[in-house]
Amino acid sequence: MRRDYDVAVVGGGLVGAALAWGLARDGQRVVVLDEGDMASRASRANFALVWVQSKGLGMAQYMGWTVRSSDAWRQLAQDLRAQTGLDVCFERPGGFHLALGEAELAARAQRLKRLHNQPGAADTSVEVLDRAAVERMLPGIGPEVAGGSFCPLDGHVNSLRTLHAFHKGLHLLGADYRPGHTVHDVVPAQAGFRLMTSRGEVGAEKIVLAAGNANMRLAPLVGLKSPMQPNRGQILVTERAAPFLHYPLVTIRQTDEGTIMIGDSREETTDETMLDLSIAAVEADRARRMFPALGKLNVVRTWSGIRVMTQDGFPIYDQSERYPGAFVVGCHSGVTLAANHALVLAPMIARGRLNADLVGAFSARRFDVAKVA
Ligand SMILES: Cc1cc2nc3c(=O)[nH]c(=O)nc-3n(C[C@H](O)[C@H](O)[C@H](O)COP(=O)(O)OP(=O)(O)OC[C@H]3O[C@@H](n4cnc5c(N)ncnc54)[C@H](O)[C@@H]3O)c2cc1C
Repeated sequence: MRRDYDVAVVGGGLVGAALAWGLARDGQRVVVLDEGDMASRASRANFALVWVQSKGLGMAQYMGWTVRSSDAWRQLAQDLRAQTGLDVCFERPGGFHLALGEAELAARAQRLKRLHNQPGAADTSVEVLDRAAVERMLPGIGPEVAGGSFCPLDGHVNSLRTLHAFHKGLHLLGADYRPGHTVHDVVPAQAGFRLMTSRGEVGAEKIVLAAGNANMRLAPLVGLKSPMQPNRGQILVTERAAPFLHYPLVTIRQTDEGTIMIGDSREETTDETMLDLSIAAVEADRARRMFPALGKLNVVRTWSGIRVMTQDGFPIYDQSERYPGAFVVGCHSGVTLAANHALVLAPMIARGRLNADLVGAFSARRFDVAKVA
């Protein structure tokens, strides 16, 4: 078989692009096979947080993995800028999760306690603050804000520009990006894999399935699995305002361009033909109660996006025992984890093997254990 590439990455969203960029930097000959810009992509619809607090209830390793990526993000932003000239506007001033009322504050504190009581929990230095302490850092909060949690490791970025920077970087590194190449089938061959796409066949020694929720269909073709349970989020964007919000919140952030993004809803329905606008109304109402001044701004855009979500919410990083050289990578929080994907995971894939501790925590085999239990 003719092997055109060392690695074929299926999917050119943030996860696939970060991995492909890391692989190409490692000297691998890379092709990215993607449906293209008109495809439904979580990477074009997200809230752009690089977020640590709240991550990992039920899997302490995910906390540590998230902290590691947050710590590596500054390096990633610097590397992208040095290579492509694009500033992805990464900032890590710390972030808030605000509570409207005492009951929400108590629930928040309780949740964080459970998170940090887990064996092996990472130190995130998260603190629960009362209203007065929050107000010193966030002047302009509404009277209903009872307090909130603050984590110094939280930050945000311009995620669309990050996606653009990865793609520009890939091009500069000589990797091939092939939009319009939907992968229909993967055939393990004697040395490598043949990928059947809508525009012909591509051969590669290794493959990485990073096709978001489509991993569910593709992974079994190479002896892997990727159980997914997508959900939908809605986001509102206001007109630009003078800088007033110097820390991102889990539900509100001011972008580098001055607009305010409001979000973080979650609906189980993923029906693309209808949208429940009452959910966006609740998001807007809560944002206005947190910062009354937001009530004076016009909403100029709204959208919804389908989250790439595994069935337990934690990432899947796996390699095929039956077909060595085949990998599957899928997760929510692909913005937050981009630094790990580009700087930590890609070099492992380039070497042809994931580290045992990573597979031990994040293999999809954990779903078999859950089934037996
Ligand atoms: C509303 C919302 C808010 C979010 N907020 C945040 C946040 O604040 N912080 C954060 O870290 N994360 C956030 N996320 C999550 C983040 O956006 C995703 O984790 C990330 O974008 C996933 O990237 P991906 O490349 O796996 O998936 P996608 O962006 O969905 O890309 C998958 C790609 O695979 C391609 N593909 C699919 N099937 C095939 C095939 N058969 N052949 C070839 N190509 C194929 C598609 O064309 C697509 O380009 C949010 C997501 C949403 C929806």
